[in-house]
Amino acid sequence: MLTCECECQCLQLVHALSSHVSFPGNTTYVAAEQSYWSLQEARLSPACIVTPESAADVAKAVATIVGAGNCDFAIRGQSHAPAAGFANIEAGVTIDMRKLGSISVNLDSSVAHVGAGASWLDVYTYLDTLNVSVAGGRNGAVGVGGLLLGGGISYFAPRVGWACDNVVNFEIMLASGHLVNANATSKPDLFRALKGGANNFGVVTRFDIATFAQGEILAGKMSSPFSERQAVFKAFAHLADARHYDPYASLVLGLTWTPATGWATVTSTAAYTKPVLNPPTYNEFLSVPNTTSTLGITKLSTYANETATPPLEWVFYTGTYGVSADLLSSITDTFNETMSTTNIPGLVLWTFAFEPLPTIITQYFLQKGGNSLGTTPADGNSVVLLITALWNSTASDALVEQTAGKMVKDANAIAQKMGLLKRFQYINYADPSQDPIASYGEQNVQYLLAASQKYDPKGVFQRKVPGGFKLPARQHYGLV
Ligand SMILES: Cc1cc2nc3c(=O)[nH]c(=O)nc-3n(C[C@H](O)[C@H](O)[C@H](O)COP(=O)(O)OP(=O)(O)OC[C@H]3O[C@@H](n4cnc5c(N)ncnc54)[C@H](O)[C@@H]3O)c2cc1C
Repeated sequence: MLTCECECQCLQLVHALSSHVSFPGNTTYVAAEQSYWSLQEARLSPACIVTPESAADVAKAVATIVGAGNCDFAIRGQSHAPAAGFANIEAGVTIDMRKLGSISVNLDSSVAHVGAGASWLDVYTYLDTLNVSVAGGRNGAVGVGGLLLGGGISYFAPRVGWACDNVVNFEIMLASGHLVNANATSKPDLFRALKGGANNFGVVTRFDIATFAQGEILAGKMSSPFSERQAVFKAFAHLADARHYDPYASLVLGLTWTPATGWATVTSTAAYTKPVLNPPTYNEFLSVPNTTSTLGITKLSTYANETATPPLEWVFYTGTYGVSADLLSSITDTFNETMSTTNIPGLVLWTFAFEPLPTIITQYFLQKGGNSLGTTPADGNSVVLLITALWNSTASDALVEQTAGKMVKDANAIAQKMGLLKRFQYINYADPSQDPIASYGEQNVQYLLAASQKYDPKGVFQRKVPGGFKLPARQHYGLV
């Protein structure tokens, strides 16, 4: 029944938006389906795909879908959320925002106006020519929309906080069909809610983001043999837990494992957001025996232009912990045990990324209009873990999911024992079985619910946009 209603609504969408609607078999539809980052998303077949080119087109699409009928819809940016249904929908309507990707700046280049469907590479390529930048994704293929609505860890985070902290205005299409601006002075509650609130409030059509002066950066990888991991973990803990965190320093510590090769090198991907060749911050990493380095001066738009991976099965899982080299070591040991005792058919590549979340980043939680993430300096310097698995056989889906889930549980248990378990689960790294919105804490959840009730009283973005992490049911909080 859903399919028929959606097919009818797709015809209404053609009436409202003519050629901006594509159907199974159309070139646009097929290309869109093939361009999802994960196969789990690409396998879903919407009844039609709407490709708006302006906020007015988004208004027509939302009005048509919300106005009548029973059709559910999905909002798609650059599709880098791997889980099925987050930005695509079986037999519903997918609103593909990628053509709303125009970028411009205001007169003094202090604010970038970014169409919600742009990629970060589009943004950096444009801004690099003006010698300014914004806080955004490290991989340029990632979308502006999903990253900013979930927080956003950027190379610039220690200088300016979560990427979302730097949005000065959201232009958003509400379920009512009204296109509104949410900023520090107009709809400030919605402004704060959107910084972490994901797709729960409307379709964002444009982000206005504060820029800062920026020239070239130092970036590259420092790779050490796995046998030297303890020294790398110590270097990581010293950087992440420094009394005076170097605001120009960012780093992701990555470990990879495959059944065939076991552990690969321990790779520290570093970006120092000044064109300084040898910042002392990375000395300890470079002094680990047999470490090789590709660190060099480059432009952000060059560095962010990473080689794309072919579409594969992907899973993300996350946890957050206090900083400790011993904890990283114990977590690695437990992962090792799980992987070497679990036989997953086909090719599987596991990646474990540890990313510093020092208080220098979380200090903005009340500034710049506040965010809803619930990360504050009271949590102390922390580390975000992202577990990623990529594999090539759907037959292994359940087992990979289960194994990744076990690993996070094990990591959490170890951290708990050491008194280092944090509540926060980063929404952009979380698996659907996790509950990142609850991890923002009760006060933030209530704040988000109040904003949802005010700006989407009928709960359209809770009910009709099923994909992504949803707010808890209002009834549980005494709301209707
Ligand atoms: C290779 C890779 C690198 C990454 N690097 C980073 C990184 O450096 N830092 C970091 O913090 N995260 C990073 N991530 C995680 C990333 O932030 C999330 O995957 C994010 O959701 C991707 O956004 P997207 O728009 O590309 O994804 P999509 O899958 O298109 O969208 C993700 C979610 O956002 C919603 N959404 C998107 N656009 C809108 C809109 N305009 N209005 C309302 N809702 C919208 C969608 O409905 C969906 O639920 C990375 C992910 C990958 C795969």
